[in-house]
Amino acid sequence: MKCYDCDTEARTDTSAIGVCDRCGLLTCQDHSHVVPAGVLVPNGLGRTLSPLPARRVVCHTCRAAETAR
Ligand SMILES: [Zn+2]
Ligand SMILES: [Zn+2]
Repeated sequence: MKCYDCDTEARTDTSAIGVCDRCGLLTCQDHSHVVPAGVLVPNGLGRTLSPLPARRVVCHTCRAAETAR
């Protein structure tokens, strides 16, 4: 499987390691950001944030958009 960003840059020496959680495109190690993600777990009648972080993969483009101010 090829990384979308590498494909647009005509790079062929990489392989995808994940799928961007936001845009759904395949990303390689170079174009991925693995970031902590909060998870809501059942707690009584409601839900609370898990004490342990999960993780998610986002591509360069989506990470830049998420962190832009
Ligand atoms: Zn790539
Ligand atoms: Zn993305």
